[in-house]
Amino acid sequence: MGLFGLVSNKKKETLDKGLEKTKESVFSKLARAVAGKSTVDDDVLDDLEEVLITPDVGVETTVKIIHRIEDRVARDKYVSTSELNKILREEIANLLSENHSDDNEDWDLPADHKPYVILVVGVNGVGKTTTIGKLAYQFKKAGKKVYLGAADTFRAAAVKQQMGSDPASVAFDTLQSAKANGADVVLIDTAGRLHNKVNLMNELKKIKDVMKKVIPEAPDEVMLVLDGSTGQNAFEQAKQFSAVTNITSLAITKLDGTAKGGVVIGISDQLKVPVKYIGLGEAMEDLQLFNKNEFVDSLFKKD
Ligand code: GDP
Repeated sequence: MGLFGLVSNKKKETLDKGLEKTKESVFSKLARAVAGKSTVDDDVLDDLEEVLITPDVGVETTVKIIHRIEDRVARDKYVSTSELNKILREEIANLLSENHSDDNEDWDLPADHKPYVILVVGVNGVGKTTTIGKLAYQFKKAGKKVYLGAADTFRAAAVKQQMGSDPASVAFDTLQSAKANGADVVLIDTAGRLHNKVNLMNELKKIKDVMKKVIPEAPDEVMLVLDGSTGQNAFEQAKQFSAVTNITSLAITKLDGTAKGGVVIGISDQLKVPVKYIGLGEAMEDLQLFNKNEFVDSLFKKD
């Protein structure tokens, strides 16, 4: 097996291990939903609804998936319960396809311009700083020149208070030196204080405006970091952030050790935003590019 084979095997192992609890919860309940039944009938569909809502797929997305399966059952007339696993896997993959046009296979960046600017938003504690560190590590490993800017008032203030830096000027300075030094990618951290929506909205707008003074197309991405282990809370944060700014990608962290991995499916569907990265542990390598097919494969793979 070549080096690439080893790397992708390791990636799969981390994914399988990280999603273990979610998978267990889905399978044990799925088994209960079909216990003693040979065909998928209304009772099975009702139970299935419960199965999906529990791992935080969310009500609306669950209803959507159930409708798709109902349509399929109506069309195919007789669907055996042994096929349910496969059908569910297919319908979830289809649903994810709506917001994930192509899968990210590597850490490449668009070749037409640089630096590629990612503005990172999210509340404290979700794993923002860790995710930025892991992203910087992965981009560096892929041979990219990385610049970081902490446009987080609290942290920036702690470091540069005497210079009177505000988040927007940190973003400005970082972009300027990144541009002057030929950086490939810039990651800008921000402070997400949800208790004051108007302030947050203004602050993010100010940061974006100031970025455009250096690079008119910036930011290329506004990435929201969410803690997957908080389930419905992550949904709430996603809704609140998308109300104050245009979120273009998601990073969902802490999927390891939680049974709430279904949030990945629900949040992406509700926000109509692709999940770009998933956090499956604290090590640098534990941040992965999200791949919808690998994700559903891992979730529905029977050992
Ligand atoms: P921030 O306040 O949003 O910047 O959050 P931090 O980056 O400081 O992370 C908070 C905690 O979450 C730290 O202890 C991280 O090690 C942990 N963490 C972040 N991502 C992951 C992950 O994917 N899995 C696990 N298990 N822990 C994580």
